[in-house]
Amino acid sequence: MKKAVLILLAIVALIGWMIFWGYDYSKDAATKKGGDLYKTVIERGYIIVGVKTDIKPFGFINEKGENAGFDVDLAHYIAKELFHDPAKVKFVSVTDSERMYLLNLNKVDMIIATMTVTPKRQHFVDFSNAYYITGQALLVNSGSSIRSLGDLSNKDVGVIYGSTAEETIKFLLPTAHVMGYKTYDEAYRALKAGHVLGITSDDAILRNYSLKDSSVNLLPKRYSRDSYAIAFRRGEESNYIIEVVNNVISDMEHRGVFMQLKRKWNLD
Ligand code: GLU
Repeated sequence: MKKAVLILLAIVALIGWMIFWGYDYSKDAATKKGGDLYKTVIERGYIIVGVKTDIKPFGFINEKGENAGFDVDLAHYIAKELFHDPAKVKFVSVTDSERMYLLNLNKVDMIIATMTVTPKRQHFVDFSNAYYITGQALLVNSGSSIRSLGDLSNKDVGVIYGSTAEETIKFLLPTAHVMGYKTYDEAYRALKAGHVLGITSDDAILRNYSLKDSSVNLLPKRYSRDSYAIAFRRGEESNYIIEVVNNVISDMEHRGVFMQLKRKWNLD
């Protein structure tokens, strides 16, 4: 009887051991908690990058079903530097409101998603150096009587949940009725349908709508000067990889690669 119990225990222990060692932890987390991020990604052989999938021309899905855009190209340049192979990237789709959360849950190594550096965000994530400069703007229907943010007092204006513009307009114009949307396409549809009289966000993003549709108009005034940068988990684990990424960014700057990418994606 005693022998049977011992055999049973041994079998249970063996199964436990097999489950433990056979489990692919990489499916759960982008990095091991506490490990150095640079070392982790080099050992893994690819980077896991949070990108937008609905913002042309920064992060979107192209006709072939692939991730494409300015931010996506930047991720490929980083992969090229780290692995001598630009294809060594796994993309994860993120939205404004969830991107820092996914980063801190270790679901991604870094976020390259039209993310503006703000003092508040710097409390929660570490940023690379800036790679793109933009400013807050206002998109309205062509022929609209709205000429600036000030005209939106007591009027409905669309923003994207979790974006810097959401905070800025509440600060600059507390009397506006701010309507939050999850995606830019939803906000754009609301503008066209007259549910909101304007959408406020980065000119870099809104410009694309005015380029492809003459029934909307991007007003010339900018309400801020903002920098896009790559976000990493805050702390020592990210120090070295941020150094490497900053070198990639300055190298791209010096070689005129950002200029080429801006031209490629019809920016500025
Ligand atoms: N750059 C703004 C931000 O980081 C908006 C970008 C976006 O909506 O993706 O909040």
